[in-house]
Amino acid sequence: MSPSSPAASPPDVGVLLPAAGRGERAGSGELKQFRPIGGVPMLLRAIRPFAQHPRVRQIVVALPPNEAARPPAWLQDVVAERLRLVGGGATRTDSVAAALAVLDPACRVVLVHDAARPFVDPETINAVIAVAQSGVGAVAAIRVSDTLKRVTEANDLVDETVDRRALWRAQTPQGFPRAILEEAYAARAALPDPTDDAQLVERLGHPIQIVPDRTTNIKVTSPDDFALAEALASR
Ligand code: C5P
Repeated sequence: MSPSSPAASPPDVGVLLPAAGRGERAGSGELKQFRPIGGVPMLLRAIRPFAQHPRVRQIVVALPPNEAARPPAWLQDVVAERLRLVGGGATRTDSVAAALAVLDPACRVVLVHDAARPFVDPETINAVIAVAQSGVGAVAAIRVSDTLKRVTEANDLVDETVDRRALWRAQTPQGFPRAILEEAYAARAALPDPTDDAQLVERLGHPIQIVPDRTTNIKVTSPDDFALAEALASR
């Protein structure tokens, strides 16, 4: 194994998995993150690539408080020293903050990954860790390939076509040196509704590097996404 391979470094990566949403857009009674995809609960699929990664020291999953107190049996089975559950908050940011607050102090690099992305690739995880380890924030992202239109919201009439050449869709995982993420979360009151973690870090003037991701790393939100997820799981 080469000295630069991911397994050669000590396990000092912490992973925060916000999974405390109610998943209302998924349109079913059950929590979206517990719904099976190809027979495996979505949250378990999201946890596994990190649990199997040699650099990962601890994973903290933020769940709705009731579920954190009484997790389903399949989750209890994986809860051990390396996997902790915490009660999440009212917003995704609150949930990430709750998970960050209990993360093992030995984790010097922190990844944040949405529980709603059950198909993250190990190559993406490696690349995000490598950038974050170098001291720079990392965002897994996809180059925009569709044509983009800016509209007037009141009537959906097109105002202009937006130049897409420098545009990327931010996904997760996102990775940061721990000190930088903690600094960003300590200042989060100044940006009440960030749509990702990198936005909090950007605000403080720290650089963020794009890490090209795969389009299969979808976020499962709507009923249609579940159909797509089933197809991906059966490949
Ligand atoms: O709602 P959204 O699609 O942005 O959710 C992204 C991720 O954040 C999901 O994994 C969801 O469970 C999580 N989340 C959370 N706490 C909330 C709201 C969302 O952990 N209060």
